[in-house]
Amino acid sequence: MFDKVLIANRGEIALRIHRACHEMGIQTVAVHSTADANAMHVRLADESVCIGPPPATQSYLNMAAILSAATITGANAIHPGYGFLSENAKFAEMVEDHGLTFIGPTPEHIRMMGDKIVAKQTAAKLGLPLVPGSSGAVSSVDEVKKLGAKIGFPVLVKAVAGGGGRGMKVIESAAQAEEAFNLAQSEARNAFGNDSLYLEKYLGHPRHIEIQVLADNHGNVVHLGERDCSLQRRHQKVLEEAPSPALNDSQRRKIGKQVTDAMRTLGYRGVGTVEFLFQDGEFYFIEMNTRLQVEHPVTEAITRLDVVREQIRVATGAPLGMVQDDIVLRGHAIECRINAENPETFVPCPGKITDYHTPGGLGVRVDSALYSGYTMPPYYDSMVAKLIVSGTSRNECLMRLRRSLEEYVIGGIDTTIALHQKLIAHPDFIDGNYDINWLERFVGLKK
Ligand code: ADP
Repeated sequence: MFDKVLIANRGEIALRIHRACHEMGIQTVAVHSTADANAMHVRLADESVCIGPPPATQSYLNMAAILSAATITGANAIHPGYGFLSENAKFAEMVEDHGLTFIGPTPEHIRMMGDKIVAKQTAAKLGLPLVPGSSGAVSSVDEVKKLGAKIGFPVLVKAVAGGGGRGMKVIESAAQAEEAFNLAQSEARNAFGNDSLYLEKYLGHPRHIEIQVLADNHGNVVHLGERDCSLQRRHQKVLEEAPSPALNDSQRRKIGKQVTDAMRTLGYRGVGTVEFLFQDGEFYFIEMNTRLQVEHPVTEAITRLDVVREQIRVATGAPLGMVQDDIVLRGHAIECRINAENPETFVPCPGKITDYHTPGGLGVRVDSALYSGYTMPPYYDSMVAKLIVSGTSRNECLMRLRRSLEEYVIGGIDTTIALHQKLIAHPDFIDGNYDINWLERFVGLKK
């Protein structure tokens, strides 16, 4: 087991990892920018090292500074959390080259899944169902028109280096191809320094359903069921639930087995999430995330497993302590991502937290680094808290979520608590009847 882990992240996820480490008897090292000197992840850690000025490029993405911090403090391993360096194959390699353990998959698997075309080709080889589309990159408007005619409009062009929906454009007809293609190309170039695009059939009313996997270095793989993350705004997830109201047991078992078989063949290790669109009873692979995800707590709530603890255990080389039959999904869980944003305009609203009171009681979990008197710096992501509520049934979970949102007080800044209150009161949500376009229609972004 590791004696000391450096957590290369900030905010709620740094706290989440710190908690797992301390419960395992592992000391923690926090790293922080100058803007985060008073942050909760720094206050709770056993040691902390300042790694640079506020911009993430000079601090949380500064590989040399993070590696130096790990060396100086004598950490044995680095946990990257999500975002920042978590899917950076070069960083994973550098960590290993320094004789430390990267708590994550191999650099090869990170690289493979980070390139969307290679990821899709790999998924196809592994027998996972794909969205119909180009077999590689599309390099001209002509090619888009030809493929569009072949698989049928509307189609979607997406960035090979993609992430967060940037460089993604729907093309309704051949007439729109040129404008959309050029726009997607320049967006991808600006966001990723890579303007390579690929094409997929645009699905009109899918749900986003993802399978959580957990694998060790010895060929053991289990899946922990699915999460439904269809409620998205600008391709960012807003609320997630498990299990999905749209799946039945046999669909769940079938896709779960396909994914675990695929991961076993791949020789994958660590935690990972295989993402699908699900429409009219069919699954379509879209991508794989080779890291811990924001929404992992809903899976923890219905499996009663500590995903981060298991992730750390398998990173030490220990075998998984469970087989698929040990995983029993119980009850229902929902996570609301609470952002420091105006709940109507979504304009970010960082600032000083004047009052802070978290909901509690049976089945209620709050993962957040906020505290009363804390001043949120403006440099980072606006997600400030995750409220995760579970119950024996979806209905019990919904009632509990409603009262928990009522109890939650975050004073001094605008938050999206009010959006969640409106959202969970809507009959479509109560009925579990929504797809990936529903939320944008609800907030008036889409017709
Ligand atoms: P990124 O890596 O940029 O997040 P993804 O491939 O994960 O891109 O897709 C992000 C989101 O975009 C999905 O959750 C879904 O809402 C939407 N999307 C992706 N592919 C399609 C498609 N073929 N048809 C319709 N919507 C899609």
